[in-house]
Amino acid sequence: MKRIVVSFCLAAALAAIADTSANYPVNAMNRMLEVECAKRGITIIDYHVHIRGGMTPELAAEREKAWIVRSSAMDNHGREWDTKNDSQLLVFAEKAKAVSDRMPVGIQVNDRDWFRQISPSTREKFDFILADTMIMGKRADGRDNRLWQPQTIDDPEKWMKEYFAHNMRILDEPISILANPTYLPMELADRYDSLWTDERMRKLIEKAVKKGVALEIQAGSPYPRPRFLLMAKQMGAKFSFGTNNFDSKPKDLARWLEAITWLDLQVSDIWTPACLKR
Ligand SMILES: [Zn+2]
Repeated sequence: MKRIVVSFCLAAALAAIADTSANYPVNAMNRMLEVECAKRGITIIDYHVHIRGGMTPELAAEREKAWIVRSSAMDNHGREWDTKNDSQLLVFAEKAKAVSDRMPVGIQVNDRDWFRQISPSTREKFDFILADTMIMGKRADGRDNRLWQPQTIDDPEKWMKEYFAHNMRILDEPISILANPTYLPMELADRYDSLWTDERMRKLIEKAVKKGVALEIQAGSPYPRPRFLLMAKQMGAKFSFGTNNFDSKPKDLARWLEAITWLDLQVSDIWTPACLKR
């Protein structure tokens, strides 16, 4: 009986260790991803690692030492976010760079006038700027309208026109990565094909290609959908990979594997920041 209790406690302790690890598990799916990357010579860097919910630059650096997927570290900037100014950004950059000299450090910009708020010299301390389309305009109470929260949309086509213009405006900003491209709020998720017409997709991809902005392949969301990814590949877009974490738990990377094999991605399709080209 004593032995059973001891082995039960040991198993529980091991499970607890496994649960709290920020590293990717060794499983069949991850092994397949490893094989596909090796075959193509692709190095995957997760450019959407938020330092929040227990995730730290230290854990991100540890994660990349443990397996083939490399990490980055990113600070959220904006009026409604903890980091609001240059000095906070500089503290973050210094801390993150002290942890690892090879881990790219970035900013997720959440205000659409961020490039007027953040000075060019501060921007230079970062390796990439990521923007996503999931915050559009203001709610009735004056707060940012976060599209992942419940929305009231009376006229989907009218809404889409506005949303598409919002996407194109973001691509005018000096960003490196467009995260969650073609995202839709849950109220419109079943209208993806009618709202994201080929013409809209083409215009968005054309602009991203022209400006050298990477299009993110998300591990944790169904966006962008395959039709968009295929069109982007055919039009010569560069792709980045992202998990958009809320904590330090590793995410399921099945969508990355699917995209790599289905699109037959090669090294030349993957976006690389200037810091890694030097
Ligand atoms: Zn994010």
